[in-house]
Amino acid sequence: MLRYLTRSPSNASSTSLFFRLFPGSYFSRSSPATGRNIRRLSSPSAAGTGRELFLRRGLRLLSAASGDLSGQFSRLSARAVSTQTAPSSYPGQDEAEKLGFEKSREEFISECKSKALLFRHKKTGCEVMSVSNDDENKVFGVVFRTPPKDSTGIPHILEHSVLCGSRKYPLKEPFVELLKGSLHTFLNAFTYPDRTCYPVASTNTKDFYNLVDVYLDAVFFPKCVDDVHTFQQEGWHYELNHPSEDISYKGVVFNEMKGVYSQPDNILGRITQQALCPENTYGVDSGGDPKDIPKLTFDKFKEFHRQYYHPSNARIWFYGDDDPGQRLKVLSEYLDMFDASPARDSSKVEPQKLFSGPRRIVEKYPAGGDGDLKKKHMVCLNWLLSEKPLDLQTQLALGFLDHLMLGTPASPLRKILLESGLGEALVNSGVEDELLQPQFSVGLKGVSDDRVQQVEELIMSTLRKLAVEGFDTDAVEASMNTIEFSMRENNTGSFPRGLSLMLQSIGKWIYDMDPFEPLKYEEPLKSLKARIAEEGSKAVFSPLIEKFILNNPHCVTIEMQPDPEKASQKEVEEKNALQKVKASMTDEDLAELARATEELRLKQETPDSPEALKCVPSLNLSDIPKEPTYVPTEVGDINGVKVLRHDLFTNDILYTEVVFDMGSLRQELLPLLPLFCQSLLEMGTQDLSFVQLNQLIGRKTGGITVYPFTSSVWGSDVPCSKVIVRGKSMVGRTEDLFNLMNCVLQEVRFTDKQRFKQFVSQSRAGMENRLRGSGQGIAAARMDAMLNAAGWMSEQMNGLSYLEFLRTLEQKVDQDWEGISSSLEEIRTSLLSKNGCIVNMTADGKSLTSTEKFVGKFLDSLPEKPSDGQVTWDARLPLSNEAIVIPTQVNYVGKAGNIYSSGYKLDGSSYVISKHIGNTWLWDRVRVSGGAYGGFCDFDSHSGVFSFLSYRDPNLLKTLDIYDGTGDFLRGLDVDEDTLTKAVIGTIGDVDSYQLPDAKGYSSLLRHLLNVTDEERQTRREEILSTSLKDFKEFAEAVDSVRDKGVAVAVASQEDIDAANKERSNFFEVKKGL
Ligand SMILES: [Zn+2]
Repeated sequence: MLRYLTRSPSNASSTSLFFRLFPGSYFSRSSPATGRNIRRLSSPSAAGTGRELFLRRGLRLLSAASGDLSGQFSRLSARAVSTQTAPSSYPGQDEAEKLGFEKSREEFISECKSKALLFRHKKTGCEVMSVSNDDENKVFGVVFRTPPKDSTGIPHILEHSVLCGSRKYPLKEPFVELLKGSLHTFLNAFTYPDRTCYPVASTNTKDFYNLVDVYLDAVFFPKCVDDVHTFQQEGWHYELNHPSEDISYKGVVFNEMKGVYSQPDNILGRITQQALCPENTYGVDSGGDPKDIPKLTFDKFKEFHRQYYHPSNARIWFYGDDDPGQRLKVLSEYLDMFDASPARDSSKVEPQKLFSGPRRIVEKYPAGGDGDLKKKHMVCLNWLLSEKPLDLQTQLALGFLDHLMLGTPASPLRKILLESGLGEALVNSGVEDELLQPQFSVGLKGVSDDRVQQVEELIMSTLRKLAVEGFDTDAVEASMNTIEFSMRENNTGSFPRGLSLMLQSIGKWIYDMDPFEPLKYEEPLKSLKARIAEEGSKAVFSPLIEKFILNNPHCVTIEMQPDPEKASQKEVEEKNALQKVKASMTDEDLAELARATEELRLKQETPDSPEALKCVPSLNLSDIPKEPTYVPTEVGDINGVKVLRHDLFTNDILYTEVVFDMGSLRQELLPLLPLFCQSLLEMGTQDLSFVQLNQLIGRKTGGITVYPFTSSVWGSDVPCSKVIVRGKSMVGRTEDLFNLMNCVLQEVRFTDKQRFKQFVSQSRAGMENRLRGSGQGIAAARMDAMLNAAGWMSEQMNGLSYLEFLRTLEQKVDQDWEGISSSLEEIRTSLLSKNGCIVNMTADGKSLTSTEKFVGKFLDSLPEKPSDGQVTWDARLPLSNEAIVIPTQVNYVGKAGNIYSSGYKLDGSSYVISKHIGNTWLWDRVRVSGGAYGGFCDFDSHSGVFSFLSYRDPNLLKTLDIYDGTGDFLRGLDVDEDTLTKAVIGTIGDVDSYQLPDAKGYSSLLRHLLNVTDEERQTRREEILSTSLKDFKEFAEAVDSVRDKGVAVAVASQEDIDAANKERSNFFEVKKGL
């Protein structure tokens, strides 16, 4: 199960414009439930440094935001295209003039059924896009062009810092107050290599304008430019607790980037960007390189803000169903305070000149000492495609080409590379066009040192072959259908649609190009289709491959070699540098530093005054609906099988889930389940190769996924364990959809050993990546597996146990393929049955009725077998404090306990309280003064497991002590009415998270499976709304039981684990991770 939702630009939008326009086009064939992503790695360009918000699983189940639970699928899930035209009250020319704006353009954009106006603020030159339609999920964003000149991370540190208090909102962190107490559907900030974005979204108009005002005040009038403490806290500072101790570096961004620089894929992405563009702003890291961050001075930081955070250098976006006149009014109040500045000229991004010949770079990356390092090389070929930005038509064609070559497991470049056996997974692959100049990369990781050259040759020969031979007609048709389906579906998952449009528009607008153009893709797409129809796909795509890749001299080959010494070497370098600093200081200096350290800590730990807190605008409880959102659900049956129907407008698309029970599966087969699911979609049948099957699915449907799902049933210790088959198609193609689902389930043959071997090594590589990048998830899964049966199952399929299983399996495939193949067959037999099967369908009523006969036919084809008795799942991992060793510069620290087993009875107030603990106690101690990137807690109200977790954390035992202090924090807590109201509203915001129609249908299914009734939801909601201070105090006892009886699991470096075990006599049992 995916536990934490990470909101970052690279997470939400794909890399190329094409796939930002059509987010559904890349369809994950991997199991969403295991969170693996075998498609492509995150964008090297988006710095990935946006703030990550962690939502709680328990809450998500209550609100059952399917987008969060279903991982990849959510991106593809449905959104009804708005059919209404926009509201009529546009500010007239006069009104806009009066407010200081001139209208420079006005257009109706049929693609998003919106009226869009471009304004220019006359005094400052600030540009404003005002997009109006009937979407209630309103979006605002302000974007500055912020090209850095060095890798000290100024733009990133500034992004964090401006949200730490401003003129009108002079408290420590208004951002956190908004997180706590608003109904935002999106709240975050992103640093790109050349720009910084501040977007917010809400469906509640009053809430929306509250958010807008806080953000505007933050960017234009932040306190951080007058207060060095914020710079020290978010950026970096020397920490010295006592003159006799060693000095260390602390800072949120400093540690965040240490985490980024611990991940090989991330390092490769950064090196790629810098190697392709050594001469312009992309040659440095806007996020900050930990070795350069301490070179940044406060003066430079202030100057950067003065220069670039100016209306003349800003682009502002409004979107949604609010009053467009109000937008300009709010803006003019801020913009009128400024005069024009030359920022817009000085922030221009200069293009990188194309090289005259190819280059080659060899770099080392930090690797664990385990395993065969000779087989851990990475190699990647990269091209900068042009000196000038491309026109939309070419950009679309390149995106199409990208999908054809790499988009699905059947795509030739992907398939050939993975089948070659030369490496274990793709790295850094695809077209990237969010920056000024587009680039294309493709590479492999897990390559033997003596086969690096072979990989390079294979990539080149495959590209040449594709240029000469072109693509299969079926493949082109499948890609085309995928695109058209996505257009129709027009879906952005849990990401607000207006934000997705904003990021597309900004991609051009930020370079002073037309902000309307990226939104109007229909015409260029139509003409691209026409060209393919007339001239054939080869005539369209071969010249692109030749021009941009084969004959392009601006090519950089990057080889990354594993270095087991690198991580500790970096530590030593840092220690030496700090020792030098200390040696250069006098006794007075040291005393002063210790005093300053203490001063900063005191300031961080002193709460804001109630008066300061009051200035952040908030809703009242009366603004909150008293009832949860109900999803129309009709429970019936078709041919004896239970069917849930949700009558919702889906723009002629049918979404369906078929659920099979895992209950009679033998325990030993559990870890094979994710690979079983992948095999169903990627192994082929007697008559169809997997490529043909894949193309057929692409041509006829919007996609099919299969994945395991486990969770504790509501209020009981019983695990709910299912395999879910999800599919979607146009209503008119329902018969095809169900035929293909049937084919996948019943006809696929588990005979392709070579492909299976690839799945295993890709999954292993994916899990290793997760261990480095999301160690908190691995730690959480581990603790869950000690504390409840559903957690144990989940860990077998997605935790350290799974990684261990995959490592053994990799050896076993060659020795006992027969055995594995028959185990896969046994899984199928044990799952596939009409008995216990449930079907979930989401579409409008008429479509639901018209598709019934196909569902019936599908169900009748399933084997009917009497239930052969449920296998009892009662496995747990033994309770013990574990430390999992990985090569890293920052740790992930967790502690958890089951509070139901120590007597706590569920009350809705627990959601409010755990959110409050995360946003105050843990945020202040673990993040702000501890220096970790994140600290949070999670209460799974189904199983009763309450867990604490930290993310990219420089500490270990110290963090555990903070967790243990939570009970006392609650007992000593004094919250006034305002604070309490905010906490309640923020919790309701989580519970009522915005959902598109398919997500509504899916959450309703999950609630049904987990036995969460509407009455239950209403009760919890009432309890949330009536939470009192007394509840906080009472909850302290539950939290104390985690302190006293809980288990701790850390994913950490060898050094830190050794130190912890020395300090607290072998507290941790040590396990090798990487
Ligand atoms: Zn950050």
